[in-house]
Amino acid sequence: MLFHDIALIDKEGKTREHMNVRVSGAHIEKVEACGNSLEEARAGGGEVYDGRGKLIIPGLVNNHSHVPMTLTRGYGEDLTLYDWLFKRIFPFEALLTEEDMYWGALLGIAEMLSGGTVSFTDMYMRIQGIFRAVMESGIKASLSNGLTGDAQTRLEETAWFRETETLIKDAKTSGGRVIPNASLHAQYTSAPELVSQLSDYARDRQLRMHVHLSETAGEHQECKENYGKTPSRYLADLGLFDVPTTAAHAIFIEGEDYDILRDKGVTLSHQPSSNLKIGSGLPDVKSWRDHGIRVTFGTDGAGSNNNLDMIEEVTLGSFLAKGMHRDPLLFSTGELLTFASRNGALAQGREDAGLLEEGYRADLAVIDMNGLKFQPIYDYGTSLFTNANASDVVLTMVDGKVLYRDGDFTTIDIEKVISNVYRIRDEKLATLASGS
Ligand SMILES: [Zn+2]
Repeated sequence: MLFHDIALIDKEGKTREHMNVRVSGAHIEKVEACGNSLEEARAGGGEVYDGRGKLIIPGLVNNHSHVPMTLTRGYGEDLTLYDWLFKRIFPFEALLTEEDMYWGALLGIAEMLSGGTVSFTDMYMRIQGIFRAVMESGIKASLSNGLTGDAQTRLEETAWFRETETLIKDAKTSGGRVIPNASLHAQYTSAPELVSQLSDYARDRQLRMHVHLSETAGEHQECKENYGKTPSRYLADLGLFDVPTTAAHAIFIEGEDYDILRDKGVTLSHQPSSNLKIGSGLPDVKSWRDHGIRVTFGTDGAGSNNNLDMIEEVTLGSFLAKGMHRDPLLFSTGELLTFASRNGALAQGREDAGLLEEGYRADLAVIDMNGLKFQPIYDYGTSLFTNANASDVVLTMVDGKVLYRDGDFTTIDIEKVISNVYRIRDEKLATLASGS
């Protein structure tokens, strides 16, 4: 497939118009200046995509999600965090089966594909249902189940362990699309004895780690009071960061935390919508970057966002940084695109993805900038994280396969997904209402 006469953002972060991007198999074969007309290109055979008025980017990586939470999107707004979690989310989640996870995950995956996301890093439960949805849809994912437990918990005896072992086995059949991760839900939902077991297990199994870190002021402070150290120091001392780790939120990290996270090679993931909606506060992403920590973006679950729009998320993160630091140079378009694509791919361990360059995986998204809100265009690249959102994405490709185009999915029966999601909603609400 040839993307013909299209705009892109180059390695230096500069926009280049009138470019050709040729995809062969699962890889980007050629990126070069466009030297012929559409008619001439079409005469050459193969599928030729008219890229006029459009921007092509490396696909986005959602580096922190709970994808089946689409099922609880909008269920319990205008509540305190405590009431939302304990009165709505936890009772609803307790009813969800592996099959329910499959349908919820498919809805989230469809939404992500329609917004240019090609890969996501997830933490949830009953993950075999999520695995099935990933496999069918063609998207890439790093999957995990968030471990919680007390000092008496024996890791090998948990449902977590069985699910993770099954995932490791199943992922071998995914052609590299699914990467199994280990995951600790958070410092405050686990005992140190269990964290140590998890660290040993992840090292033995050579798994990457995913964790929520210092998301609220309360948990951060409580850890300091209980253990005399910050969550970053505490988890580092328990060996959690001895494998490549993505830590989400990191709003309240302080002092030596920055050095610990950098020295351990921990990637941080920023979820500004969730931080704002839940009222947690905001991290200083400029400080993350200035300390040499790898920055990525995620959407968090649909319950706290409420969409999975990565373009919107990055734009919001950039605007917040500009406002916080009174510095409009935070961050450049090239830097934001690196946070949202290449850095996410690297955090997942996908060295061959996240760049629009020859030889890299053909994980791509096309944004249509013919719409009124973009007119007149001075620069396609700088229009991306100032003016676009998921609904401007018109094509998403993973490993050279078109999975979404002009409102249609090539691998997902979206009507069937929607009807199942409503069935699940109604069933669970009826069960909850009957009190059983
Ligand atoms: Zn989260």
